[in-house]
Amino acid sequence: MSRSPIWHPFTQHATEPAMPEAVRTEGAYIETRDGRRILDAISSWWVITHGHRHPRIVEAIRQATESLDQVIFAGFTHEPAERLAAALVELTPPGLNHVFYSDSGSTSVEVALKMALGAGRQRRDGRNRIVVMQHSYHGDTIGAMSVGERGVFNAAYEPLLFAVDTIPFPTAGREQDTLDAFERFAKTGRAAALIVEPLILGAGGMLVYPASVLATLKRIAEATDTLFIADEVMTGWGRTGTLFACEQAGISPDILCTSKGLTGGAIPLAATLATDEIFAAHYSTDRSRTFFHSSSYTANPIACAAGVANVEVWRTEPVIERIAALARTQSSWMARLSGHERLRDARVCGTIAAINVRDAAGGYLATVGPDIRAAFARRDMLVRPLGDAVYVMAPYCVTAGEIDGLYEALIEIVEREI
Ligand SMILES: *Cc1c(COP(=O)(O)O)cnc(C)c1O
Repeated sequence: MSRSPIWHPFTQHATEPAMPEAVRTEGAYIETRDGRRILDAISSWWVITHGHRHPRIVEAIRQATESLDQVIFAGFTHEPAERLAAALVELTPPGLNHVFYSDSGSTSVEVALKMALGAGRQRRDGRNRIVVMQHSYHGDTIGAMSVGERGVFNAAYEPLLFAVDTIPFPTAGREQDTLDAFERFAKTGRAAALIVEPLILGAGGMLVYPASVLATLKRIAEATDTLFIADEVMTGWGRTGTLFACEQAGISPDILCTSKGLTGGAIPLAATLATDEIFAAHYSTDRSRTFFHSSSYTANPIACAAGVANVEVWRTEPVIERIAALARTQSSWMARLSGHERLRDARVCGTIAAINVRDAAGGYLATVGPDIRAAFARRDMLVRPLGDAVYVMAPYCVTAGEIDGLYEALIEIVEREI
């Protein structure tokens, strides 16, 4: 494999151990050329919701290829895109009546930012600042990096990133600081939008905060006429225990980004949903007000068909019950591990659980992360800590016994191996 021309994502090729070759996926497992069955405890980077190669989604992809491949989406439409858009309007919080397709979480965020800025420009109110939350992650393209946490990941690109206003993460007991900071920025009259990951910040370390904070941020946004962008790229499709995380705060954002679980994780697709107001700001016989955005593969019919099949799975299978059961298993393990002397800050958000390893030299570049990852890999388990934060975000088909196995392994690892 070392002679491969491939440059892998987020991979330091100088230190990366030999990579297993995936030859087959099924349910919660990745099977490798050398005959291992690896438990995919991170849903292949948070995309696989129901399980790998869900039969209904695989079949929908197969069928779609019988009649369509990519079709230009400017001036054309097709049934898979129409059906999925109608379902998204129905399933997302009320008021999000317009669906703009793209093909990754990052592009869905770029689209959201452009919509917010575009709407501000059309309103001629000159607002152009984006308010962001400390420790956020919104993707790796330049705009998405600009609204995310600055650090070792993007230091080299800093000169190209645009300036934002950052509110502190709402740590327990300090929530008011977050709200006050947002109110201050929002009242300057320069803020076009706030962008947040609702309830849990993913790549920032699986940091959770209460729905009440989200609800209050929305109230402040409304009161100050600041647009509210919910980046549900990770949180959507059941991860936090409800279909979308915003439901738990009883809020409807002005713009919502969805990707990862949109096709059950089978194939790339993203959508940015917007309110009538934002659509109307771009609706005009004046062509200069057009929303000037597209990517070549916008609304790929095969991907949209997979999205429609994913919605069907949600409608016909007991997904909510599966999620509730997984959330219970995760909660009971976090309760059990919270007293462990090598672990701290056990937390759960729906199906996601995270806990940090104590006394590990800090930061994302700490070796504890790779060491833990390697220890799990020896047990045929795929776990990739974020710095010293170990998290489990498995596909919903995972069994309670498999979750038990993961945490029993974690205990062994922190007690004996690192
Ligand atoms: C993963 C992620 C993104 C970026 O999605 P990509 O498909 O990797 O571009 C954006 N926002 C959040 C919250 C994410 O977790």
